[in-house]
Amino acid sequence: MPQKRIFFYLLTLLICGFNSVLGQSDSVSENQIKKLTQQAWDYYKESNFEKSLITSRVALNHAVAAKNNALIAKSYKIIAGNFNELSEFDKALFFYQKALYYANKTENDSIKYSLYNNLGNIYCFEKKQFDRGINCYKKSIAYSFKLNNLSQIYFTNVNMAWAYFDVGRFEEGYPYLKFVGNNVEKYGDKSTEIVYNMLNGMYSNYCGQNTKADDYYLKAIEAGRNSDEESDLSYAHLEYSKFLTKVERYKEAYENLVLFNKITEKLYSQEKIKKASAAGFNLELDEYKRQIDKIENEKTSQSQSLKKSRIIVILFVLISFILLFLIITLIQNIRFKKKHNLELLEAKEIAEEASLLKTQFISTISHELRTPLYGVVGITNMLLEEHKELSRSQHLSSLKFSARYLLSLVNDILQINKIEENKVVLENLTFNISDEITVIKNSLSFLSKKNNNKISIDIDPNIPEYLIGDKLRLSQILMNLVSNALKFTKDGEVEIVIKLIKVEGKMNFLDFLIKDNGVGIAIIDQGKIFEKFVQVGRKDEDYQGTGLGLSIVKRLLGLFGSVITLDSDLGKGTSFTFVIPFEHDLAKTKNIINEIEVDLTSSEIYNILVVEDNLINQLVTKKIIEKNNYNCKVVDDGFAALRILETEVFDMILMDINMPLMNGFETTKRIRLMGIETPVVALTAFDKDEITDEAISSGINDIIIKPFEPVKLFKIINYLINEKNAV
Ligand code: ADP
Repeated sequence: MPQKRIFFYLLTLLICGFNSVLGQSDSVSENQIKKLTQQAWDYYKESNFEKSLITSRVALNHAVAAKNNALIAKSYKIIAGNFNELSEFDKALFFYQKALYYANKTENDSIKYSLYNNLGNIYCFEKKQFDRGINCYKKSIAYSFKLNNLSQIYFTNVNMAWAYFDVGRFEEGYPYLKFVGNNVEKYGDKSTEIVYNMLNGMYSNYCGQNTKADDYYLKAIEAGRNSDEESDLSYAHLEYSKFLTKVERYKEAYENLVLFNKITEKLYSQEKIKKASAAGFNLELDEYKRQIDKIENEKTSQSQSLKKSRIIVILFVLISFILLFLIITLIQNIRFKKKHNLELLEAKEIAEEASLLKTQFISTISHELRTPLYGVVGITNMLLEEHKELSRSQHLSSLKFSARYLLSLVNDILQINKIEENKVVLENLTFNISDEITVIKNSLSFLSKKNNNKISIDIDPNIPEYLIGDKLRLSQILMNLVSNALKFTKDGEVEIVIKLIKVEGKMNFLDFLIKDNGVGIAIIDQGKIFEKFVQVGRKDEDYQGTGLGLSIVKRLLGLFGSVITLDSDLGKGTSFTFVIPFEHDLAKTKNIINEIEVDLTSSEIYNILVVEDNLINQLVTKKIIEKNNYNCKVVDDGFAALRILETEVFDMILMDINMPLMNGFETTKRIRLMGIETPVVALTAFDKDEITDEAISSGINDIIIKPFEPVKLFKIINYLINEKNAV
């Protein structure tokens, strides 16, 4: 049953003359498209749906080409209206939705409210989707309000009231009817006059006001008869018939139903004709729909490819920017690195220079100190030798000790440097632990007396008599620890306890404990004191010290593979402990002792030339050599050496290196150039490692560092002379 509600087909287009423009051209002006839509609309009103659809299709094509969304929406709206008239509601809905899609892209609100109204009609009355339909009506009213178009609101209210009544929700629909009542005079037309009265009849019927209802229905039918709104009249007859049936006026009810059927049939047959006329066109309609879809799709794919190419362009630009940014960053990085590398190189050079300077400084200082110390130690020895009565002199032995201690301090500084550069190798000497401790105790007796301390020694009797190891470094460790204990203790006791804790093969593990009951070390300082040059709570008048002692101890113990442990309580005292393994091997010990004896018991009398510029050293060396019954001649410089060698023959030449006019290397070179093969031993205060290369290249046979143990000198002399004679 076809139902016709109030549809809006108001076109806001201004029609400026009209020409039949059915032909399609590529570029058509906006005005021409407007004319086409107007023509399509006119055909529609004449119920010439075929022509209306053809014209609107042409209009649509041009509107799409012109990208005019408002005209696209209007073309679709006319197409939808045509389908609606042909009762093709699904198609109508489809094209209304399309129209709405394009209308929403525009600011044109008038087309929006009419589209929503028409959609509301289809949803409520044809598709029976009431809520959706009401929603569309409400949107239509909102747009109408926006445009202050009360007439449109009026029409939509008619539709809403009818829709509510149609589903029996009279109370909800009544306010809309009331609004229609208030405005019917102003905005009403023939159609709404019929519908308004019919709806009032329905509402009165719902309220049980039969007379009133009867009255309204009759008014509606009369208004219908006076108009050509046959569709509305048919609904009035139908509703009236329902009412009459309810009030049991069956005869009249029947009559109204007959009238309803009559009009409906008429309308239906008219529609059939319309449909029939459009039937041949239906196929084309479908084709038409497809073509519209195609146009749309083309447009979509065009816009998609446009989008794609836009995306590609954007991506390209972005990637270019990123690449540019990366290149700039790379260049900056390279520059920064170059600069940084230069800085690093500079820093490295400075550091290397500083390290070289430090090494040179240490070697120069130690050389400068060693030379006079050689004199002090040598002369002390000479005094003791020549004046046997002084051998028991405490002063002389203290002098000897101090000189030796000073010498070892110089050596220590050199040593720390060497240990840090991994240049120190432990030596193997044979020693008696008890003797070493006694020497240390005696050496420090002046210090123990100064602070009124007692030194007690406890040596495990199980420790073998002779051990093999680096006794000099052990003495250094003990000397440092015991002298510290004596320095930081007053009127107390310093214990030296040595225990054999285990024996593994030939290795004897000795546990050393140096304990005092002096001032102690605060816990907070206990970690620091092993650092170089660190002294804690020092008062100037208290004692002399450099802050090097414990740092040397720690490093030396590291060479022995040992670690030092500290246990101290402030005010109570301090204990240092460590374990060192020493080898015990009788055969080896015997060899070491024999070697020394062999060297010392040589019966030969050799002629030795000493080349030395320092007068004290000349004296000391001469004494040492003559004491061993060798002949000794001394010259002051290299040139004098060359002169004497022209006339005299020597078994051995002892050559100082650091001499004015011509140094020891140069002198030796010239001696070799004279064809003299006599062994040359460098006697120098330089560190051995520093001069070895140059010494060898200039023809020097061996190096002895001053001050030296006489035994070592004679051992070398004997060895070199024997070696030469053997050739
Ligand atoms: P120095 O004794 O030349 O100052 P050390 O490296 O031997 O340097 O010692 C560092 C510091 O450790 C000392 O200045 C002292 O404060 C502390 N110290 C070392 N041994 C003892 C000890 N037996 N009792 C108390 N304090 C000590």
